[in-house]
Amino acid sequence: MAIKVSKWKNGAQSPVLFMIDDLANLWHDKNKNGKCDIGEDWGHMGISQNSMWNFLNQNILSKWPNIKTTFFLVVGKRASILSHKRYTYCEDILGSEDFLEFINNLNSRNDVELAYHGLTHGIGGSDAKNFVQEWETFKNVDEAIKTTELGKEIFFKALGEYPKGGKYPGYAYNSFSDESIAKTGFKWWCRHLDFLKEDDSNLKDYSYDLEKFQGVIDIPTTIDGAFYSLKVKQYLLTRKYVKSTLLALLKKRTLEGLIKKRLANQQIISIQEHTSPVRTDDRIQYPNIVTDINNLEHIFSFLKLKDVWYATGSEIAEYNEKTESVDIRRINNHQFRLKLTSRKFIGQAISLELENGKTEEDVRIVIRGKEYPAIKKSTKLVFNVPITDQIYSIKT
Ligand SMILES: [Zn+2]
Repeated sequence: MAIKVSKWKNGAQSPVLFMIDDLANLWHDKNKNGKCDIGEDWGHMGISQNSMWNFLNQNILSKWPNIKTTFFLVVGKRASILSHKRYTYCEDILGSEDFLEFINNLNSRNDVELAYHGLTHGIGGSDAKNFVQEWETFKNVDEAIKTTELGKEIFFKALGEYPKGGKYPGYAYNSFSDESIAKTGFKWWCRHLDFLKEDDSNLKDYSYDLEKFQGVIDIPTTIDGAFYSLKVKQYLLTRKYVKSTLLALLKKRTLEGLIKKRLANQQIISIQEHTSPVRTDDRIQYPNIVTDINNLEHIFSFLKLKDVWYATGSEIAEYNEKTESVDIRRINNHQFRLKLTSRKFIGQAISLELENGKTEEDVRIVIRGKEYPAIKKSTKLVFNVPITDQIYSIKT
């Protein structure tokens, strides 16, 4: 019986990473009515009425409780897209007690991760096109490192721990940016909108698999939350639908087709979103959880029927590190050991799978007398076992 380390936890086909950019201590009263309406909040309103979190919770998280959300937090004052236009409220994450309490509550949940998304996100311009994304504002690697260290300290002051991962604001970076990420100690990072790169025939550097740069795990972004399904009729007459969806259709691409491809290849399904549609130039920030809500409901309903693992960025990166630290060494047909390249993960769980396990009755893995039962799947048996240097026996 062939046994191997599962690519993903529980032997799932794909991990699902729900990524929401630009959590910030910010509210913009777009219609100037003096109160928070749905879509205006980037996080500042915490758990109050019409806040970003309440909207997300009521419409998505309470309906699909298995979802894990990774927020990308801008720790300083989030830059306005137009330099001459201010948000109604904008402070750094230490700027208000209520917000501090809110993000600490988020951070203590095991279905939420807070990751790093810059000190300011960038510098506003005279028009939207002139906005410069944060990592493109740095003159050299030292400046990038210094600013990122400063941002990490604000994160630490607010939350009592450092961020493990993050994302370049606007997915924009230059030749020395990666070095600044590696040298400031991040375990994982998001660099590419891979689903866009796929369209550019000149570029070959997109990948739907995890990659590594300078020791940092690069998690790809594979699904745009504002790429609408043809099955979600609410968007049929919107400009966004006509622009993006019809163009994709010409390339014979559908949302469901993209997700199915990721599943078939055991690749990550990482869904990109933003907290709010509101920008100071009055255009809609796409993708965003409010405008895209019907599409998100469709995506999560679709995924409910699939064998996926809902995970945060750090959980995906850590599972990947574990799989790279072990190698299966057969002793005989019924026994094997794990060859460990690192002892760092001893005692932690990893998923192993028996291919063509015929889902026989009562197959177990036994380690020092302790039995681990199988999770039965259609074509394989999966075992969640601890990483040890003991003998693993397959008991049938
Ligand atoms: Zn952003």
